[in-house]
Amino acid sequence: TKSLTNDVLTQWDHDHFFHPSTHLGQFARRDVGNRIVKTADGVHITDREGRTSLDAFAGLYCVNVGYGRSEIADAIAEQAHELAYYHAYVGHGTEASVTLSRMIAERAPEGMNHVYYGMGGSDANETNIKLVWYYNNVLGRPKKKKIISRWRGYHGSGLVTGSLTGLELFHKKFDLPLEQVLHTQAPYYFRRKDRSMSEAEFSADCAAKLEEMILREGADTIAAFIGEPILGTGGIVPPPEGYWSAIQAVLEKYDILLIADEVITGFGRLGTMMGSEHYGLKPDLITIAKGLTSAYAPLSGSIVSDKMWAVLEKGTDEFGPIGHGWTYSAHPIGAAAGVANLKLLDSLNLVSNAGTVGKYLNTAMADALGGHAHVGDVRGEGMMCAVELMKDRDDHIFFDAADKVVPRIVAAMLERGVIARAMPQGDIIGFAPPFSLTKEQVDEIVGVTQASIAEVLGG
Ligand code: PLP
Repeated sequence: TKSLTNDVLTQWDHDHFFHPSTHLGQFARRDVGNRIVKTADGVHITDREGRTSLDAFAGLYCVNVGYGRSEIADAIAEQAHELAYYHAYVGHGTEASVTLSRMIAERAPEGMNHVYYGMGGSDANETNIKLVWYYNNVLGRPKKKKIISRWRGYHGSGLVTGSLTGLELFHKKFDLPLEQVLHTQAPYYFRRKDRSMSEAEFSADCAAKLEEMILREGADTIAAFIGEPILGTGGIVPPPEGYWSAIQAVLEKYDILLIADEVITGFGRLGTMMGSEHYGLKPDLITIAKGLTSAYAPLSGSIVSDKMWAVLEKGTDEFGPIGHGWTYSAHPIGAAAGVANLKLLDSLNLVSNAGTVGKYLNTAMADALGGHAHVGDVRGEGMMCAVELMKDRDDHIFFDAADKVVPRIVAAMLERGVIARAMPQGDIIGFAPPFSLTKEQVDEIVGVTQASIAEVLGG
């Protein structure tokens, strides 16, 4: 492939490559895409035409340790030479998968000691929902099956997980089997309807709406609540003050399991090892993916609590083996990447760097942009930051989607050498850089954001 011209590769791309989450018409007309990425190092990616960009979104919030880490690449190569594959069915393991399980349990909240592996965040959440249903069946509660998610939550693109996802784009025209899935109010204080509410009142309102839903449906029909510690793809929205404690009190009252989807927050993005630790969550299941291997190889997991484990074990004694397995569960190459990645997080102090540099990022962005006439909100936590734009912030009026404000700003940023993400719903510019980011690089990101907003919106 090295000898192919860019024209040939671009043609093949258009003729044969069905890209995810892509407007096919725009791609065909060459209005989007056409970037063939070739190499990467640290926080920078370089394409085939030699253009280098600072990746302020770490791929898709996943290359947490940064690009070009030979420690992980070497671990993958060694594993591929020694044992490229063996399955994990009926009790088989590899040195890498057993070691990784121990390392995950050491980093998970207390009482969460068992890991079921998948390939990506979506399939890990599919596993979680099946485990929740199995659990309630073993306990003799066959009606307790519905799952509550939040509007603006993102939990994947599968049949069940696409339903859990609370973003319109992921439901539209797919006829997803939504009956078992309910969506409750997003903990999105900035977009609250009642502008007079304080953060604490808004959190109480979210908990009250959740309780109303449970009572309306019947607590004996609700199995679990799933949420990201901080909303990610739905707009990078940290929870309002008191949110998680109010929600958890309701879940405990009605014996409803909590699934913490830590696909983005797991392994350091908020400056703590897990997002659950950051916000005081006590989940029964935790979804992990992206940061588990920093995306050097596909691997995900469902961390299962001791409480659920005891019931699952009893279930298999009664009903036989768990009828749920993927060929690539605990794939040795993914597991080797995971072990090397978690070691690197520790040896380079990257979790603590995510906390300190992330704080600097959020403060610098707020200082630079908070006063702009079209910036409604600058928010974030750790290495996650969002800038939300508005047509008129005094009267709280949002732009029309047709204005395409954020895509234009993000394109202007790319011209200046910085990749940010136009979040899929609302006028939100998203940032989620690798944890190795320096303060100088933060200054570059903030400067480019400021200049690009000024280019598109003035000021
Ligand atoms: N859960 C969360 C919180 C995510 O952010 C994502 C992906 O962005 C997923 C689940 C789905 O993961 P994957 O794309 O690996 O299937």
